[in-house]
Amino acid sequence: MENLKPKILAIDDTPVNLLTLGAALKDDFDLQVATSGAMGINLALQDPPDLILLDIMMPDMDGFETCRQLKAEPLLRDIPVIFVTALNELDSEIEGLMLGAADYITKPIQVETARQRIHNLIEREQLRRQVITQRDQLAYEVTIRKLAEGRLQLAAGVFASAREGIIITNLAGEIIDVNEAFTRITGYGHDEVVGQNPSFLSSGHQTTEFYQNMWGQLTSLGHWSGEIWNHRKNGDVYAEMFTITTIFDAQGEPQNYVALFSDITDLKAQQRELDHIAHFDVLTGLPNRVLLADRLRQGMAQAVRRDQQLAVIFLDFDGFKRINDEHGVEAGDLFLMTVAKRVKQSIREGDTLARIGGDEFVAVLHDIDDRTSCLPLLSRLLEAAALPVQLLNVVLRVSASLGVTFYPQILDMDAEQLLRQSEQAMYQAKLAGKNRFHMFDTAQDSGMHHHHEQTKRIRKGLFSGEFSLHYQPKVNMRTGQVIGAEALIRWQHPDQGLQMPGSFLPAVENHPLAIDIGEWVIESALTQMDTWHAQGFDLPVSVNIGTRQLRHLDFVERLRDILARHPNIKASSLGLEIKETSAIDDIASVSHIVEQCTALGVVFAIDDFGTGFSSLTHLKRLPVAIIKLDQSFVRDMLVDLEDLSVLEGVIGLARAFHREVIAEGVETIEHGIMLLRLGCEQAQGFGIARPMPAQDLPRWAAQWQPDPAWQSLG
Ligand code: C2E
Ligand code: MG
Ligand code: MG
Repeated sequence: MENLKPKILAIDDTPVNLLTLGAALKDDFDLQVATSGAMGINLALQDPPDLILLDIMMPDMDGFETCRQLKAEPLLRDIPVIFVTALNELDSEIEGLMLGAADYITKPIQVETARQRIHNLIEREQLRRQVITQRDQLAYEVTIRKLAEGRLQLAAGVFASAREGIIITNLAGEIIDVNEAFTRITGYGHDEVVGQNPSFLSSGHQTTEFYQNMWGQLTSLGHWSGEIWNHRKNGDVYAEMFTITTIFDAQGEPQNYVALFSDITDLKAQQRELDHIAHFDVLTGLPNRVLLADRLRQGMAQAVRRDQQLAVIFLDFDGFKRINDEHGVEAGDLFLMTVAKRVKQSIREGDTLARIGGDEFVAVLHDIDDRTSCLPLLSRLLEAAALPVQLLNVVLRVSASLGVTFYPQILDMDAEQLLRQSEQAMYQAKLAGKNRFHMFDTAQDSGMHHHHEQTKRIRKGLFSGEFSLHYQPKVNMRTGQVIGAEALIRWQHPDQGLQMPGSFLPAVENHPLAIDIGEWVIESALTQMDTWHAQGFDLPVSVNIGTRQLRHLDFVERLRDILARHPNIKASSLGLEIKETSAIDDIASVSHIVEQCTALGVVFAIDDFGTGFSSLTHLKRLPVAIIKLDQSFVRDMLVDLEDLSVLEGVIGLARAFHREVIAEGVETIEHGIMLLRLGCEQAQGFGIARPMPAQDLPRWAAQWQPDPAWQSLG
């Protein structure tokens, strides 16, 4: 920069005038020439010179105007301009100076004077620029310092008023400073802790390895965060969310550590509570299905490791339902709480007792030497279950049936299979007369043989495609709209012809096969809906869900999977019908399942409503959208006043709880008329349409017309 010659731009329409000057200056300066004002401005803009020599007398745009324009350009404004004038008149000098010219030279040009003036001006300009830069620099530094002070103040403010505890240590880990929140959370004052290592707060909950990891990450990554259990001054142990950061100096060397922490004890407690709700039965405080499945899997792994056996015992009370029916749900609840405690006391500390349904419990016993060694325990369990339970003014007494299975077995088993085996064994204990245990045996008892053959045949039928679904339309009798269809299972038996569900479903009711069938039904219905959808026919379809299927450990997850396989079908187009009787046996857990499924979008209905001794409480506690009136009431309402008043009551109740109502078993126009009068518009029944094969439904739906008598009631 220094050794470059200063640049001069001469603007003159007759550059000859400048030749002498140019020759004289060329050793000291870089000289550029423009022959008009406009050209001069252009050149200057492209490459700003250090000084401009400007002729006043020019044809198109004179020197004054050129100067005015130069001064109007921010980029050129500060470049000194020297007027070159022949006028030698005070007026033009003054005008030039007023326009911002720095000096003037008169023609003929005195070369030495001119050179001196130019030099002076350029020096002055350079000096001016330096001053400006220095001033700017100074202003800049002042600003930076102010900013830094501001930041420090801000940091100090944050330190003092943060809700998080803050610890600052040196590199040796000794505390240099703590804030007020630290004192509030830990109980230790500033002076008590300065100089100490924060580890004095440790509760001993963390291992040495934990701290090694923490320091490792802190040195390698510069920060660490996680949960730490520490103790307060008063001895309380509490949980903290900790973030430790290394502070580096300007050279990038570590200087301090800053730890921020907040007390998350409350959060932890809430988490634990949620965890508890998710894993424990509310009534008895025992583990629920979810936790049972977990414990069972752990136990199985442990049994293999230790080369020990594990026993799974399924316990179901004999005739528990009667307690509920005769003495009310509250009595039933109290009974369950009492016996649960007793049964729990008769197993060992490390064993698990879980409640998995209404009156169904499962015990998982570890470290069994052989089958016979658990016989005394089984007797103890039976005794504990059968002890009388004294409630306010009644003594309740029921026995229990136990099903037992062991692990490991010759065949590979998973937790779900073990549970099914124990349940099946329990069922056999019931068949054999209740109040006893039955050990699961892969070679079935002879008494079970027929049943076994039957389920085998059903299984074969299921897997060889002998089952199908028929669809019965549901309509709005008043508006004439077809609102959906119910899928009903049929078995096309090769020898016995078309079988209705009543003739084969009961055989699998308590059998794991019921779950396979149930899933087949959902899957088939959705596949059918896909087919219809492709034909431009969309209709909500409901399927019936058996008790066993609904209570299956993974029901919700499996449903989610099936729905995911049919992305074209909205979950809200799928309805699930559960029998009232299967719902009220274990309202709490059924409600939970219903809630989860509703969250997926599917719509729940209580089927055969009115048959299950339902009370107001049941209806209120079950979060279902639809109530399906049982066909027995509908069938008889025209002749039986009692049935009519039951229907009237239920419809009113449903309305009060904002539930939809649909009537099944509408066999005649008269039934429809009566239902419409009672305020129930939705219906299904032989009077509208019988269940039909899937391919007939679109045609039926296109042509159906409600009876004129129904429409006139709207
Ligand atoms: P549901 O769920 O109450 O189904 C209604 C039953 O009533 C059907 O019998 C249907 O054909 C019959 N029905 C409909 N309208 C009338 C009518 O106007 N009059 C008379 N008398 N009956 C009518 P279906 O198909 O024999 O099914 C009987 C039961 O079997 C069903 O009762 C349901 O509980 C069960 N079921 C059917 N399919 C399945 C299934 O896929 N899974 C499960 N778990 N259960 C099913
Ligand atoms: Mg149904
Ligand atoms: Mg029904």
